Amino acid sequence: MKLEAKTFGGIMNLLEGKVIAKQMREDMAKDLEKLETAGVKAGLRVILIGSDPAAASYVRMVERRCGKDGLDSQVLYFDENISENILIHEIEKLNSDNNVHGILVQMPLPKHIDKNKVIDTIDPSKDVDGFHELNSGKLYIGADALYPCTPYGVIHMLEYGGIEIEGKHAVVIGRSNVVGKPVSMLLLERNATVTICHSRTKNIGELTKQADILVAAAGRPHMVTADMVKEGAVVIDVGIHEVDGKITGDVDFESVKEVAGYLTPVPGGVGTTTIATLSWNTMKAALDSLK
Ligand code: NAP
Repeated sequence: MKLEAKTFGGIMNLLEGKVIAKQMREDMAKDLEKLETAGVKAGLRVILIGSDPAAASYVRMVERRCGKDGLDSQVLYFDENISENILIHEIEKLNSDNNVHGILVQMPLPKHIDKNKVIDTIDPSKDVDGFHELNSGKLYIGADALYPCTPYGVIHMLEYGGIEIEGKHAVVIGRSNVVGKPVSMLLLERNATVTICHSRTKNIGELTKQADILVAAAGRPHMVTADMVKEGAVVIDVGIHEVDGKITGDVDFESVKEVAGYLTPVPGGVGTTTIATLSWNTMKAALDSLK
């Protein structure tokens, strides 16, 4: 099946995160209005532990972009020696703060802190990263929930990009709890036929070549080459890597752009819809708190 190519952001076949995020923002404006009417400003708190400069710069960008989306968005910085108990106590304070609707703990955490314990301390109704086991379970059964931002950002990329999911063969490379599994469940919920590939999958190129929608989330730079892609396929590149000082993805952009019907760039693709989805989830959490 060859999908019809469309023009996004003036460039043929390119699914640009900023174009999709702009459309998402137009829809979020309606939510903002509802919240304003109720006298509520959606509050997001991002917790960063430690002083890794890349992580600090990322969370500052998140704070800024979500602020522009109309959220009260703040990063809370903690020393890398913070004890697990104190961190949990800080999260519990945010859980009971009515001005806070979304809590995100930036990963990875220092080794002495149990990641699962921390995630499961977050009130599920404020778990805007969608990794609390209750939200994971709801995703699995297809219930309304807060879904993880990157996988849900991939869905936003497709849906706002005008790409039909139902009945399509979606092939996902990667089965992590962060990207591969949740994006597969979200695609399945939208009636795609989903194939999940991983590091033990044999003849992966034969499978990816059957994909109408190919989601690359293997964490392997330039792993997806043109010979692995069906002509006209929608290729969503989730990977982020720094190679020779340049940010690049799991897809060999230069060769795949000659074959794909649609392609996301890296940077400027899924990374952008991920952050817009964080705003989206925080607005949803704030709206749900009014019910
Ligand atoms: P991960 O936890 O390392 O998982 C990678 C998955 O890919 C695993 O399931 C692994 O299989 C599979 N895999 C690895 N090599 C493979 C190969 N050669 N062939 C087939 N499958 C292979 O990574 P992740 O957290 O899911 O992240 C994936 C990528 O997305 C990374 O580049 C990450 O930086 C990026 N990412 C981007 C965003 C964003 O906002 N854009 C957010 C999160 C992650 P096994 O399970 O068999 O090991």
